[in-house]
Amino acid sequence: MKDYMIRGMDKERNFRFFGANTKNMIRTACENHQTTPVVSAALGRTMTGAAMMARMLKRDTDRVSILIKGDGPIGGIVVEANGLGHVKGYPYQAQVDIPSKPDGKLDVSGAIGNAVMTVIKDMGLKEPYTGQVAMLSGEIADDLTFYFAVSEQTNSLVILGVLVDVDYSIKQSGGIIIQVLPDAKDEAITELENKVKDFESMTRYLDEGQTIEEIMGRLLEDIEIMEKIEVDFKCDCSKYRMERGLISIGKQELEEIIDQEENIELVCHFCNHKYDFARDEIKKIVEKL
Ligand SMILES: [Zn+2]
Repeated sequence: MKDYMIRGMDKERNFRFFGANTKNMIRTACENHQTTPVVSAALGRTMTGAAMMARMLKRDTDRVSILIKGDGPIGGIVVEANGLGHVKGYPYQAQVDIPSKPDGKLDVSGAIGNAVMTVIKDMGLKEPYTGQVAMLSGEIADDLTFYFAVSEQTNSLVILGVLVDVDYSIKQSGGIIIQVLPDAKDEAITELENKVKDFESMTRYLDEGQTIEEIMGRLLEDIEIMEKIEVDFKCDCSKYRMERGLISIGKQELEEIIDQEENIELVCHFCNHKYDFARDEIKKIVEKL
């Protein structure tokens, strides 16, 4: 089954929600980057959150980037998603091995360390919208909740989960964001809070074979699904984009490359695709500058 994302509201219009099953998407990302389990969890949670946040924007071409920069062994995470359900991401360090927490869970906050999370929303305007928060938890879902409260004045429930198998493959991955609408009734909010207390674990429910719709139904009464779209790891890199990157290096540096190298190989950070530029091609780029 392909990964998909749902968007909807409860019948009484107290909440809007987003939910995504992202197992294949995260599997592709983690295979591309050869991540260790704690990095898979950190990257997978961030990508799943970004996928849903991109769907909150108006147009399919609008983009959300989440940039995490911390002093832990991962160093940072970069994720980008658009409204079409295309998501890409990479960790600064993919091979991080730190002990799990006493309860056996992967120590994502320990791997990220003291960090800052920056959310950039590019909606095709002159300037993208940028919001930044200190990551108080480092477990990503709570940090996104904090971001929504501080930067967007929205009360949200964010649940993200990645289950890594013993062979390091991704066994389950998914997430939910529920946001309180302006006219929500107090009783409905209290009811949701009570249900959250009984909610055990995203990945556990997924592993039992429950769909994202069924898991949403554990938290909200009478849900109405308004749309369902595919989500996928997709990188939009191209030789042209890489050429733009080369130009940004500057004429002088490029001339030095021409003097020293037969050809150069550029690697896309997001998907590890390699692009070769022969000396003649670089010469042509320099001539245009
Ligand atoms: Zn790429």
